[in-house]
Amino acid sequence: MNTHTINCPQCGSDLPLTFRYSKLMLCDHCGSSLFLEDDAVRFAGKQSILPEYPSLLQLKQTFSYLNNTYLPVGHIRYDYEKGFWDEWWVIDNSGEGVWVTVDEGDFAFEREIEPPSPLQFQDLRLDTMFDGWLVTERGHATCEGFEGELPKIVTIGASFDYVDLSKRGGKLFSLEFSDQGIKAAKGIWVDPFEIKVDE
Ligand SMILES: [Zn+2]
Repeated sequence: MNTHTINCPQCGSDLPLTFRYSKLMLCDHCGSSLFLEDDAVRFAGKQSILPEYPSLLQLKQTFSYLNNTYLPVGHIRYDYEKGFWDEWWVIDNSGEGVWVTVDEGDFAFEREIEPPSPLQFQDLRLDTMFDGWLVTERGHATCEGFEGELPKIVTIGASFDYVDLSKRGGKLFSLEFSDQGIKAAKGIWVDPFEIKVDE
């Protein structure tokens, strides 16, 4: 896996970068958020370190699932009514990234897709069907913070409405509605006991 290094413009620390298309990074030395633009690194603000909770997944600690190995390089935490959930940006052997959502011990692999349009949060009521999917959860969430490197820009404190839809076979379809528009991802719930963290 290719790694190159950037310098934090605030404190000068060397920061190894794993994913070539990363757009946002947190300097774990000084807590600066950094925008990565082509070859430039730009200071985006300070962030407090995320509170740590026991977690199977850890940054920079590889794990295997079925026959693949994954390296978590980024992590976002979202607060919602019932607590929080985590989204991990993990890179596979071929250098491709996938999101792993962890919510109350449940794990799902998800990939972002083009959102179906037009679609409104209000139209997706709990326990109703949309396009063959059942609406199983809806609510409001806020981005609490992130660590590592990410392929997209997130804004700490930004909030959005979300809807989770399900289908037989553990299939998951998630939607986020914010001022910036709609984001959509599809994936599948996996058995956490199949995830083996490497020693
Ligand atoms: Zn720094």
